[in-house]
Formats: sequence, structure tokens, C-alpha cells
Amino acid sequence: MHRFYRGDMPQQPLAQVPVDAQWDWQEKGACRSADPTLFFHPQNERGSARRSRDLAAKAVCASCPVRIECADYAVRAREPYGVWGGLTEEEREAIYARIDLAEYPRRRGEGARMAAPEIDAAIRPLASVSA
Ligand code: SF4
Repeated sequence: MHRFYRGDMPQQPLAQVPVDAQWDWQEKGACRSADPTLFFHPQNERGSARRSRDLAAKAVCASCPVRIECADYAVRAREPYGVWGGLTEEEREAIYARIDLAEYPRRRGEGARMAAPEIDAAIRPLASVSA
């Protein structure tokens, strides 16, 4: 949800913003009580520092009751920055690249359906770490 960052982030072209942009799910996001700096990389962050921060953000998302709604929104909005629904920027880029723009999901729930494999896999590394 990242409401603390929204004003500073580049905005999507209006045509790409889903109609449910009121984000009624955001009120239940686990990140509301988390450190917001976990979810966006500082400039020039690379390598292990970036992986560690992404994993910490994913751990918050893994316990979030609205993870699927968040991931659905981020995919449909083609959010370029941050961790959303446990998906990193790179993981979402892979989703954006494999879905034909002509068939791109716009309605609520369609992003979660079309990106279900990636959304499921997004927090899988956490399970192997804790196993
Ligand atoms: S899935 Fe992650 S980014 Fe989305 S609302 Fe939940 S904690 Fe925040």
C-alpha cells in the first residue's frame, strides 16, 4: 500500500490506473505498521543489500491479509516501484513482459488471476528459509 510514499512516486498514466484506485483494501495492509523504507529501494541499492531489504518486505507481505488484493492492484496498475503483494519490481516486470498489452488485466481480480503463479511464488523463498 505504501501510502507514505505515494505522493513522491511517479504516477502511472491515467489510462493505466485501475478504477478501484480508492484502494479500500489498503486499510488492512500489514505494512501500515511496518517500516515503510523496507518497501522501496534507495537510489543505487544493489546486490545483497537489495535482496535483504526485498526479503524483509516480502516477510511483511507474507502475513498480510490483503496480499492478493495488493498484488492484483499492482499488476493491473503496472506499478514500477516497490514491493507490492510480496512481488518485487523485477518479479512484476516479468509479469508485465509476459502479458500481451491487448489482453492486459484491468478489472479487479483479473491481475491476481493472470499472475497467480508469480503471486504464489513470490513468498515461497520465505518458506524455504524458515523450514
Ligand atoms: S501485501 Fe505487502 S505491500 Fe501490500 S498491503 Fe500487504 S504488506 Fe503492504
